[in-house]
Amino acid sequence: MTSVNGDLQTLRQKLGEISDIHNAIALLQWDQETYMPPKGAEARSWQLATLSALKHRLFTAESLGNLLHALHARSDALEPADAKLVEVTRDDYARATKLPEDFVHTFAAEQSHALEVWAEARRKSDFALFRPNLETLLRLARQKAEYFGYDDSPYDALVDEFERGMTTAELKRIFGGLAARQGDLVERIVNAGRPALPWLAGKWEESAQWAFSLRVLEDMGYDFDAGRQDKSLHPFSIYFDTRDVRVTTRLSEEALFSSLMSSIHEGGHALYMQGHADSDRRTPLCDAPSLGMHESQSRMWENIIGRSLPFWRHYLPVMRTYFPGRLDGLTPEDLYAAVNLVEPSLIRVEADECTYNLHIIIRFELEVALIEGSLAVNDIPEAWNAKVKQYLGLEVPDDAQGCLQDIHWAHGAFGYFPTYALGNLYGAQLFEAMLEQIPGLWDAVGEGGFTPILAWLREHVHGHGRRKLAHELIRDVTGREPSPEPYLTYLESRFGALYNLGT
Ligand code: ZN
Repeated sequence: MTSVNGDLQTLRQKLGEISDIHNAIALLQWDQETYMPPKGAEARSWQLATLSALKHRLFTAESLGNLLHALHARSDALEPADAKLVEVTRDDYARATKLPEDFVHTFAAEQSHALEVWAEARRKSDFALFRPNLETLLRLARQKAEYFGYDDSPYDALVDEFERGMTTAELKRIFGGLAARQGDLVERIVNAGRPALPWLAGKWEESAQWAFSLRVLEDMGYDFDAGRQDKSLHPFSIYFDTRDVRVTTRLSEEALFSSLMSSIHEGGHALYMQGHADSDRRTPLCDAPSLGMHESQSRMWENIIGRSLPFWRHYLPVMRTYFPGRLDGLTPEDLYAAVNLVEPSLIRVEADECTYNLHIIIRFELEVALIEGSLAVNDIPEAWNAKVKQYLGLEVPDDAQGCLQDIHWAHGAFGYFPTYALGNLYGAQLFEAMLEQIPGLWDAVGEGGFTPILAWLREHVHGHGRRKLAHELIRDVTGREPSPEPYLTYLESRFGALYNLGT
């Protein structure tokens, strides 16, 4: 029998190699989205397929399973930190080996076929075109849920992939408390009328937007010696190591805040990744416990901080130096009103903070019904349009602006959408605790001082990696289970004042 320490060393070495391949794949993907010339696409798809297959083979190898089994059997002899590594890796291993190889191939093939058809269906705004593919993907998703196993709803098994430990029943509880109050708030805002912002029209120089976004990222504490910002069509952030975490932003001269807000959003993700523990590098622990927890960081920085009045008290004078003459005569309150415009719209990715979760609840309710079998694919457009009417008060003119707008279902990614809304809720709940624990937090923001915020996040969130599940971390930091209450309180207080809604 080999020694525990010997086995542990072997495990760390194997996981290190797998993590190197994983991060090299990420680097190739980053390049694909930023600098790769168009003719490079074919070779890049070979490289990505080869490396992904290699990574999967190494991670699902029987030898790794045996090693994990042996270490688990002697976990009493392990340090708690190492026992956690074994536990989390075993969980990932079990997941990765539950799906038969031919199922994985079938799923991938259907997925890439569905993506093509979906793109065409969306272009033509013709749901019927996409229907057979969606039916196939749903059948496969249900089959996947059977392979993974579940207690209550097959949707549980699918959500668990993105939000470990979360269940359909828990989501229903959380979103149930959210939908009515958030819907009511939006309705009152719409009735209050849209503020006029004539100064916001016109073109805003892209190079100035770019320079200003770099300045804000730097102020947030993003380490440019361990990262960089580039341009891409869709903004994203990506991890190669805690000392190489990159962000991208989108630039449009029509939209003054689009680049800034996407930089702050991706910066929030990036600060998380730059803040993982050194000892967790090259292991599966070096990540967030869930997509929702990751999203809590980006949305907290972007919305709660970046769209706050103290933030604009500090940044209006700074911003004037980037756009000489354009912002003269404006007050921080003007900027504050402009970044917090509320307007129910049909498209999720363009939604403001107030209406965003309603878009998610629509998708969540439909997904659960589809996976549990109470809604037929054929009836999606009608059900979608009815929910948009119910939650957003809007008529959907066509499927392109309705049920065909998102790529997620064409990816076969059922159970992903709820993580966006959970991000909003987790972010507000964590921020509420932070406010109690950091005296003068808003005063510091009003002076552009983010150091206490980042230090608090490093200690309570970033450094834990995957050592705690999302709801465990929330409970440990805030003293209670994830709840929609802090988010609703924050929304009602900010937007109630902005739109003079009274109490
Ligand atoms: Zn995000």
